[in-house]
Amino acid sequence: MSARPTPALARTPEEWAEAVRPLGGRAFHGKQIFRWIHARGVVDAQKMSDLPVQLRSALAADGMDRVLDVAVERRALDSTRKLLVKMADGATVETVLIPGVSGHKGVLPSPLPADEDADAAAAVEDEEEEDASEGPVKVTQCISTQVGCAMGCVFCASGVAGLKRQMGADEIVAQVIAGRARLDDNERLSNVVYMGMGEPLHNYEATVRSLRLLTHPDGINLSSRRITVSTSGLVPEIARLGEDFGGNIGLAISLHAADDETRSRLMPINKRYPLAVLMDALRKYPLPRRRRITIEYTLVAGKNDTAAEAKKLAKLLRGLPVKVNLIPMNPIEASTLGPPYLSGVLAFHKVLVDAGYSCFIRRRRGDDVSAACGQLALLGAKPKVRVDRS
Ligand code: SAH
Ligand code: SF4
Repeated sequence: MSARPTPALARTPEEWAEAVRPLGGRAFHGKQIFRWIHARGVVDAQKMSDLPVQLRSALAADGMDRVLDVAVERRALDSTRKLLVKMADGATVETVLIPGVSGHKGVLPSPLPADEDADAAAAVEDEEEEDASEGPVKVTQCISTQVGCAMGCVFCASGVAGLKRQMGADEIVAQVIAGRARLDDNERLSNVVYMGMGEPLHNYEATVRSLRLLTHPDGINLSSRRITVSTSGLVPEIARLGEDFGGNIGLAISLHAADDETRSRLMPINKRYPLAVLMDALRKYPLPRRRRITIEYTLVAGKNDTAAEAKKLAKLLRGLPVKVNLIPMNPIEASTLGPPYLSGVLAFHKVLVDAGYSCFIRRRRGDDVSAACGQLALLGAKPKVRVDRS
């Protein structure tokens, strides 16, 4: 076990109580500090006005306001905002704010049918009560868990780049703190999806700690139902996540193929955990009643997009409580792979709907700022990757 102290933004109230003791703080200060950080989003200790002045100064030296900076913020035409965040060592990842589109369905210009799922955010959205058209706009934030990714999926910019380093729980939650600070007045953070750069279950401890912080009643207090972790299918960690949270954290599985040969070609992780093993893990996930696992299927032209493959997928998923999100692949600089024609996407969709599945086609939210899935480029770390597409 590492003896490294828990970084400030990753501490629980109890750990804060311990940490402030040598600084002359009292146990109850622990909860106060935690509230400042996680409920109010204040990371400047000098602004924690109910703390003793000496404690504020000691904490200010701790540097918790320097965990990350928003280096670039780009707003897409659909109000999706991509934040490029730079961490203390200069490494960069991206986090995306995705406003809900309730009330606009079918109105936004889109080449896709009106009943499509909006985006990654919709992993949870469609199971919620219908939004009144008044009231704050619900925003889903998509966050990163690693700088790059070790899984090597061939259609993914993060995978092509490889793993640069793990992120700490403090860096993971700092994205949410920074994101909330950038919400418009009429917006409210309602959901968090672990679908940014990296494989969250390959950084299990930090991911779990960040989940505990985001759901802590003295902090942001997000319901675990409003959080979705997306994974390429790390079977032992899926089981652990199920046990650690009693199945209450939403689970999204990046499937992308219905047979081992195709899946192994697209996603090397399939060689370690083939489909039979993965499907078994999904069957065992302790999902609460009436909740479903999200199956993500990125459609890659000529690789996994035929009607025959859709039928195979329908058969593979039979009996599992799932809904399926179809994502026409977003082109990436490092690959010649691309999405099928719309007719192919619609045909694939129809097979699944006819087989009785809830199946959605994802709109490419924020495409004009490369905020869409798989385009979370390693700007800075890998300047070759183009971030702006016109
Ligand atoms: N590593 C995790 C979470 C991050 S990836 C996972 O793989 O699930 C989030 C989603 O974006 C995954 O479903 C992934 O397959 C998808 N994705 C990655 N690159 C993409 C691309 N170029 N086009 C469309 N979807 C992509
Ligand atoms: Fe990693 Fe997910 Fe990209 Fe695969 S799709 S390389 S698991 S981030």
